[in-house]
Amino acid sequence: MNEFSYSRATSLRDAVRSQDKSGKAKYLAGGQTLLPSIKQLLDAPERLIDLSGAGLDGIEVGRKTITIGAMTRHADVAASAQVREAIPALADLAGRIGDAQVRNRGTIGGSVANSDPAADYPAALIGLCAIVHTNARKIPAEKFFVGLFQNALKSGELITKVEFEIPTGAAYEKFANPASRYAIVGVFAASFDHVMRIGVTGAAHFAFRWAEAEGHGLGVKDLSNVSLDQSRFNSDLYASATYRAHLVRVLTLRAVSRL
Ligand SMILES: Cc1cc2nc3c(=O)[nH]c(=O)nc-3n(C[C@H](O)[C@H](O)[C@H](O)COP(=O)(O)OP(=O)(O)OC[C@H]3O[C@@H](n4cnc5c(N)ncnc54)[C@H](O)[C@@H]3O)c2cc1C
Repeated sequence: MNEFSYSRATSLRDAVRSQDKSGKAKYLAGGQTLLPSIKQLLDAPERLIDLSGAGLDGIEVGRKTITIGAMTRHADVAASAQVREAIPALADLAGRIGDAQVRNRGTIGGSVANSDPAADYPAALIGLCAIVHTNARKIPAEKFFVGLFQNALKSGELITKVEFEIPTGAAYEKFANPASRYAIVGVFAASFDHVMRIGVTGAAHFAFRWAEAEGHGLGVKDLSNVSLDQSRFNSDLYASATYRAHLVRVLTLRAVSRL
């Protein structure tokens, strides 16, 4: 493990000011990914800026949206009465991330910033037309995830909160890795009046919207002939790309049938 310095930001301004845009300083949220990466020498930041005192946690419900602060832990989203009432599927998703330790440390901002192809939240961000708020701008979820562990954030840019549209109904289905609970494939289906949206995680290099399936409406019965671009699908020791494509279709049917 390389040496690094540590500071604890006391506000959003303090956190952003502590960044040097060189990429050598990193924000520390729950540390569930960053700290193991540093220990395994996969990452070597010179400085960690701890966000735990920056006032970035909390949940706010508006008339049409629910906004979750970047430092809000998965366990708090899962247990939130406001989230359970407004978007129960989102609370359900958060409650199925990893294990109790991961849920009590990991944060929504850290998860979204990390953009792991197998993370759960990205499916919900796509399905719920979310907006990622940063210290500098607002980024629609569909433009946020751009590659394997890659997103639209610029060096030093800080996620402050994620704003989700409240749907009329939603359901999350995941085929989980039995060890880590990461999604081999996860599908988040949401309905907005008579319009449906499908967000898929785990299958490809990054979360995507399966718009072709949405066109089939809420009464969808058979997706076997609906086109699904597999050119960027993951293939690893857990599942082949073909099997992942099969899972996308099956989990979409299950999620939609629960709406
Ligand atoms: C054993 C295990 C099992 C897991 N299982 C699952 C699972 O089933 N599903 C799932 O979705 N996830 C899973 N995770 C991941 C976990 O959910 C964490 O959310 C994730 O590791 C990152 O969140 P964090 O808060 O720990 O971020 P950190 O590890 O602190 O940071 C991750 C990255 O994001 C950056 N960052 C953090 N916050 C911000 C911010 N606000 N703005 C900009 N950049 C930021 C950091 O600099 C770092 O590069 C698992 C992790 C472990 C260790």
